[in-house]
Amino acid sequence: MLSQLGSDAKLLAGGQSLIPLMKLRFANPSHLVDLNFIAGTSYIREDNGTLRFGPLTRHSEIEDSSTAAKIPILHDCAAGIADVQVRNRGTIGGSLAEADPSGDWAVVLMTLGTQIRCLSTEGERTIDLPDFIKDAYTTALAQDELVSEIAVRVPPKGSGGAYLAFKRAAPVYPTASVAVQLVMDGNTCKEAAVVLGCVGLTAIRANDAEAALRGQTLNEQSISAAAEAAREAADPQPDMRGSTEYKRTLVAALTKRAIAIASRRARGEQVEAGHLYA
Ligand SMILES: Cc1cc2nc3c(=O)[nH]c(=O)nc-3n(C[C@H](O)[C@H](O)[C@H](O)COP(=O)(O)OP(=O)(O)OC[C@H]3O[C@@H](n4cnc5c(N)ncnc54)[C@H](O)[C@@H]3O)c2cc1C
Repeated sequence: MLSQLGSDAKLLAGGQSLIPLMKLRFANPSHLVDLNFIAGTSYIREDNGTLRFGPLTRHSEIEDSSTAAKIPILHDCAAGIADVQVRNRGTIGGSLAEADPSGDWAVVLMTLGTQIRCLSTEGERTIDLPDFIKDAYTTALAQDELVSEIAVRVPPKGSGGAYLAFKRAAPVYPTASVAVQLVMDGNTCKEAAVVLGCVGLTAIRANDAEAALRGQTLNEQSISAAAEAAREAADPQPDMRGSTEYKRTLVAALTKRAIAIASRRARGEQVEAGHLYA
């Protein structure tokens, strides 16, 4: 239907981004192609070390899943998105396809090694998440292509992650957010992924922050060095949520906290984390 109707047609998933845009007249599609009638598009499966999410899997289904209980960074993300109404309708596929610079899923999934399966009448292709998101509100999807699955590598043994987003209130997007995923060997960090949200046109991989942790003992010095590198990597715009300097300071503080929680979780501790409210 999408390829028949042409570029004025839009897919409808949870409608939690598209419908508000239509109400504001920022989007004015000639046709809506509703994915909700297609059976078998909402699921969470695990096979051969890969988690597979159907594109219409709701944020709330992920929040309540045994998978999120096992991989807490997924729970941190899903449980903090807006309010219960948005989480009950909004989907992981819609969130990634929207590529909102303030969206939560891309930030978290970039720490985990994620691939997006895309489907059109031409066939199927798989794109690494960093290549899928091209710019703010822009993805690698062709006009007649849809997200058919999100494949996430299961973190190896000794892993722990945390996602912290700072918000003014539940039903608004975060001011800044940080996702950290570590592989630990005792107190030594073997691998680190640090990704920043809401402080650039897309999620930002903080490579220097990761380098400051990799191979290091986690202590005040290495964690501060990583936080400082994350502050440098942030590229925020000043807006009603705060000044550039305020958002950079927030990123550094969230990075420190997220590293501390991720390392405790890597040791097997149960630590509550998630969105922080002003
Ligand atoms: C009040 C409010 C607060 C919010 N706060 C947050 C927040 O804090 N954090 C956050 O991350 N999100 C937030 N959201 C957005 C929410 O997470 C949305 O669910 C999500 O961005 C879009 O998912 P959806 O399923 O609703 O997509 P839709 O709105 O249905 O679609 C969004 C876009 O993606 C396209 N699309 C949908 N599914 C597919 C697919 N399978 N393949 C290709 N294209 C597709 C649509 O054509 C459309 O262009 C908020 C929304 C609201 C209304």
